[in-house]
Amino acid sequence: MGTAACPKRMTYGPCGGVGADGGCEVAPEPCVFLPRPLPVRWSGDGTPLEEPRTRAGREVLEVMARRPLVVSGFPAAPMSRDSVRACAEALRGSTDCVLAGDSGRARVQFPPAYRARLMAAEGLRVWSGVNCRDRDRDALDRELASLREVGVAGVHCVTGDHTGSGDRPDATPVFDLEATTLLPRARRAGLLTSFAESPAAPPVRHRPARVAEKVRAGGRLCWLQYCGEVEDVEAFAAATAAAAGAPVPVLPGVPLVVDRAGALLLADFAAAVLPEGYVERVLEARDPEVVGVQVAVELGTRLLGASGVAGVVVAGGAGPGREVAFARALATVTRELGGGS
Ligand code: SF4
Repeated sequence: MGTAACPKRMTYGPCGGVGADGGCEVAPEPCVFLPRPLPVRWSGDGTPLEEPRTRAGREVLEVMARRPLVVSGFPAAPMSRDSVRACAEALRGSTDCVLAGDSGRARVQFPPAYRARLMAAEGLRVWSGVNCRDRDRDALDRELASLREVGVAGVHCVTGDHTGSGDRPDATPVFDLEATTLLPRARRAGLLTSFAESPAAPPVRHRPARVAEKVRAGGRLCWLQYCGEVEDVEAFAAATAAAAGAPVPVLPGVPLVVDRAGALLLADFAAAVLPEGYVERVLEARDPEVVGVQVAVELGTRLLGASGVAGVVVAGGAGPGREVAFARALATVTRELGGGS
């Protein structure tokens, strides 16, 4: 049963886009979930959830059994095979898997399975972002089956930003499913799953319990929106373990900023809270690229040593035309953090 007044038609809200003042990320009104009893309990039928059927998915679990997982973003230009290949080449061997996600500045991308096919052909383990904004459940089921055939390591299941944000506000938003209802479909398709949570977005005290509900729905790894200092990540990991009754593998983000364009991109993320002075230290440096890599390695190293942290996701962006250079910078950071070993 959907929640009619939520612009994303969510049942298992609130999404991660709730403003600091409790405002909806889409409509000029308060988020409809804030006055309701939370968390919204997962009402699924308890169908057995399959273990990953792809070799890459099993390899990721093997890596996680011996050390933290190091994931990188993928900065390729949209709709460009050449850029996909060049960025893949830059990242190959330096990271455990690569997230091919969504971008507010380029909503029109190759379909996830096709992009994953191109990336896998270049020797990467691929973690594909799948959102509920662009496709209904039939199209999503086709996409999940295709991703399994391509052999991706896993899928990052998100409700997704509304079309009201980003570069295609003319598109009709779908939201037939949402992250919580996409997760069990991905597990039944034989895929390893991840989901997002925004610890710093209101209602902050209910966010750990929301993670627990997503785990009950079929989520395996929880990837965190930037939420402040290392201690904030540790506190959230402990709270999710308490809410779920067992530790949840939590992977905080490590933002890589190497120029002003990347800093602006970061500013677009709702509910993102960075360690104090993080971006300023890069932008005020004589060589922002060198210092950007340095601060990302420092933060990533501290996060990998933090209690309750199962890995990190290093991501960010740079100005148009700098995709391959940014992929090389990502590779430097992930290699330093032990990725690909
Ligand atoms: S903030 Fe998110 S969950 Fe809340 S009403 Fe808006 S779109 Fe729905």
